Amino acid sequence: MTDNIPQLTTFDEPALNGAFATLAAEVREASASLTTSDAQENFRLHWLGRKQGRLKLISDAWLKSAPAEAKKALGIRFNQLKQQIEEAIESGAVATAKSGATQEIDISLPGQIRQPGIAHPLLSTMHEVVRVFHHLGFSTSLGPQVESDFYNFEALNFPPNHPARDTQDTLQIAGQQSRPSRDRLLMRTHTSPVQIRTMIAQAPPIRIVIPGKVHRNDAADATHSPIFHQIEGLCVDTNITFSDLKGTLDYAMKALFGSAVKTRFFPSFFPFTEPSADVQISCIFCGGTGCRKCKHSGWIELLGCGMVDPAVFAAVTAERRKLNPDDDAYNPEHITGFAFGMGVERIAMMLHGVSDIGHFYSGDMRFLEQFA
Ligand SMILES: [Zn+2]
Repeated sequence: MTDNIPQLTTFDEPALNGAFATLAAEVREASASLTTSDAQENFRLHWLGRKQGRLKLISDAWLKSAPAEAKKALGIRFNQLKQQIEEAIESGAVATAKSGATQEIDISLPGQIRQPGIAHPLLSTMHEVVRVFHHLGFSTSLGPQVESDFYNFEALNFPPNHPARDTQDTLQIAGQQSRPSRDRLLMRTHTSPVQIRTMIAQAPPIRIVIPGKVHRNDAADATHSPIFHQIEGLCVDTNITFSDLKGTLDYAMKALFGSAVKTRFFPSFFPFTEPSADVQISCIFCGGTGCRKCKHSGWIELLGCGMVDPAVFAAVTAERRKLNPDDDAYNPEHITGFAFGMGVERIAMMLHGVSDIGHFYSGDMRFLEQFA
């Protein structure tokens, strides 16, 4: 680089005129080809680079050997040269922008067609189920995915160390050991904590559906995933009976799967409902005569449900009495309720004939496009 630095030995007016005329010519020549932004950037680095720029190298060399009285004249001329370089870059950039503008827009070409987005099959299934319950007068409630042990387990009648907790093992948030067990945070294992939150916040009557994401310590396979989606429902009022539960779910299943669908209820167990039931619907593929999808039984298990356990109302009442010691809104002598829950993935898999739950989370367009 230093080899290319022109030498200047005399600093009188004619010498400076000659030397700067040569440099100005060099800049002019190089600036003739600044037609792309790359070329402009290279030109700028070559001349104005802060450490190895040609302008800096030359001015350093010349100012060092110049006598004191010539330094001012040199400084003025270097400033003029710098201005000439900057103008060359500027006019190159303007020219590039202009020619680019005329080249890139051709209004006779067809426009770019944007693919319309669609709801993910899990979301659309969730919306479909929620819509059925909206028609029955239910509203939607949502809650946090990071929950406290109290809302996720204790208030729902899973006492600490109760074996029922084993069925809903989940991720615990780290660093909670110093907290009382009811305040420790975890990823919620069901959407039921929102039932508790809603009842603590408002008195009956309550009719809500709760769609949402839940987490469990399940190994992923064709039908299990450590993260999945649930829709739960809760109805609390005076004179709510098991018949109301049966009628509501029977109506909802017919609305979802067709009016020919039948439902039947089997005794089951959930800590937060008593009595509890599993609900089966007649097979939507064979109409109940038996096929591979229903394992030749004619029935498909789809929901869990039951009457709200009085222990749940007691937990809610204890919380409400912290704010109002006389609160008696959830006295099980006066009010009753039912709750139900279903897995969104299971319904979506059944409706669309999806054989592996993993497809829903893969983000594979070949799979998702089929729902467009
Ligand atoms: Zn069948």
